[in-house]
Amino acid sequence: MAQPRPATSLPFTLTPPYCWEKSLYALVKPVVTPRFALSCTTKLLDHLGEIAKNNDLHIQSHISETKAEVNLVHELFPDYKSYTDVYLKHNLLTNKALQRHAGRPQGPEA
Ligand SMILES: [Zn+2]
Repeated sequence: MAQPRPATSLPFTLTPPYCWEKSLYALVKPVVTPRFALSCTTKLLDHLGEIAKNNDLHIQSHISETKAEVNLVHELFPDYKSYTDVYLKHNLLTNKALQRHAGRPQGPEA
């Protein structure tokens, strides 16, 4: 069975003071950006969700762009009800999240 191939290793650990708290960067806000579910392991998704939640950050990602992508997400994340569920269970689908290119939502995702 194919395995998710993370685009990056586990990210850094955030420790205060954060760069965005300095007045010099008042107009710049960080956004947690997993490329899409297939580029992340569940461990990485957990870590990114924790960073977003613990720091009240916005999130952006991509979801359900093609039928092939949706099918592969179902194959690689069999314990989740849907593509949306993958992000939801990792705290990456919040009122501060933007999911782009959702061209193939299915079931409850539609
Ligand atoms: Zn996209």
